[in-house]
Amino acid sequence: MTHSDLIVIGGGVIGLSIAWEASQHGLSVTLLEDRAEVGRGCSWAAAGILPATNLKTATDPLERLRGLSHQLHPQWARKLRELTGIDTGLRRCGGLYVATTPGEAAALVGLQDYWKSDAIECRRLFPAELASVEPALQPMIQSQRLRLALQVPDEHQLRCPSHLKALEFVCRQAGVRVETSATARSFAESSRQVTVVTEHDTFHGGAMVLTAGSWSTLIGQQCGVSLQVVPVRGQMLLYRLPSPLFRHVINEGNRYFVAREDGHLLIGSCEEEVGFQEQTTTAALERFRHWAIGYYPALGALQPIKSWAGLRPGTVDGFPYIGRIPGRQNCFVATGHYRSGIHLSCGTAVVILDLITGQKPRIACDEFRVGRG
Ligand SMILES: Cc1cc2nc3c(=O)[nH]c(=O)nc-3n(C[C@H](O)[C@H](O)[C@H](O)COP(=O)(O)OP(=O)(O)OC[C@H]3O[C@@H](n4cnc5c(N)ncnc54)[C@H](O)[C@@H]3O)c2cc1C
Repeated sequence: MTHSDLIVIGGGVIGLSIAWEASQHGLSVTLLEDRAEVGRGCSWAAAGILPATNLKTATDPLERLRGLSHQLHPQWARKLRELTGIDTGLRRCGGLYVATTPGEAAALVGLQDYWKSDAIECRRLFPAELASVEPALQPMIQSQRLRLALQVPDEHQLRCPSHLKALEFVCRQAGVRVETSATARSFAESSRQVTVVTEHDTFHGGAMVLTAGSWSTLIGQQCGVSLQVVPVRGQMLLYRLPSPLFRHVINEGNRYFVAREDGHLLIGSCEEEVGFQEQTTTAALERFRHWAIGYYPALGALQPIKSWAGLRPGTVDGFPYIGRIPGRQNCFVATGHYRSGIHLSCGTAVVILDLITGQKPRIACDEFRVGRG
């Protein structure tokens, strides 16, 4: 039996970020992860796109959380690099938003209005400008399919495996007890003490936070906590080129290219409600390949080097759960970040620590409360 100030259930980007933030508040932390390694759930699978946002102008609660995180990411990346020597790949690479169908063009016009109203820099690029900022888009532009292209300079990218590795490193360095192959079966609270039971051990803590991503509903059910987190599969395809194909993240609808500085080229993604199936499918990967070749025909001569899938923790209303479990004093939840968990992780960590340490959260979290309708 062990005791720590905080027990974190789940070692994805949310759990690791909270564990690190808690250790910086001087709390002793135990982190329990089901798999043999931390950071191998959905977080590892992500593309690491951090779209532009603006905390000063955002009114929507999710956009405020995004805005807070967006401000924190560069500070976190700097600090992680100082402490670990790991470059997490955070780059302000900019995003290009491309429409090739009337529906996509209409959706982009709506996005443009939103960016303008929130004072997020965005400008329309005509074909010649687009070709000059991204020469590799020339074949697509020449195919006459382009209807609209917008450039958003404040979009960032992050390399998720490096970010997770750095987070694990600083957690261990700060004394976080990381227990892998430790599946939390249940948790309970009595006399202000929290108990979490795994197959082989019992852990006691002053507080507990559930960050089990898509699996949060299952463990919640064991403990009478109603969470409606649904796994939504996303798949990814990876190519390796001699040099980066694009400078920007290229977005079309829910598909994108993310080019890394070392020539890796990520192509994603899709949204599939198929339960807890984490494997890729030939049909989806073929669709990505076909879409990518439509942009850059030379990809047709290359073989992808890797593919994978991950389960995004989705919620019915699109908001994450961040808050105290109703009826319990020291049990909290931080999950359901769906397509934005990497982006929202820093903000989630500081806000949940505000709640755990009894401070007023620096952004309003009412809309994220556990047990909402
Ligand atoms: C293809 C794809 C692309 C994406 N792209 C982006 C992107 O560009 N930008 C962005 O911001 N987000 C992106 N996302 C979403 C992002 O990956 C998720 O929102 C985020 O990773 C969720 O983090 P998490 O820590 O909640 O979940 P996870 O990373 O899944 O971590 C939860 C952990 O809990 C563990 N666990 C489960 N049950 C238990 C238990 N009982 N006991 C102990 N441990 C347990 C799991 O093993 C897992 O490691 C993408 C997702 C996918 C699939």
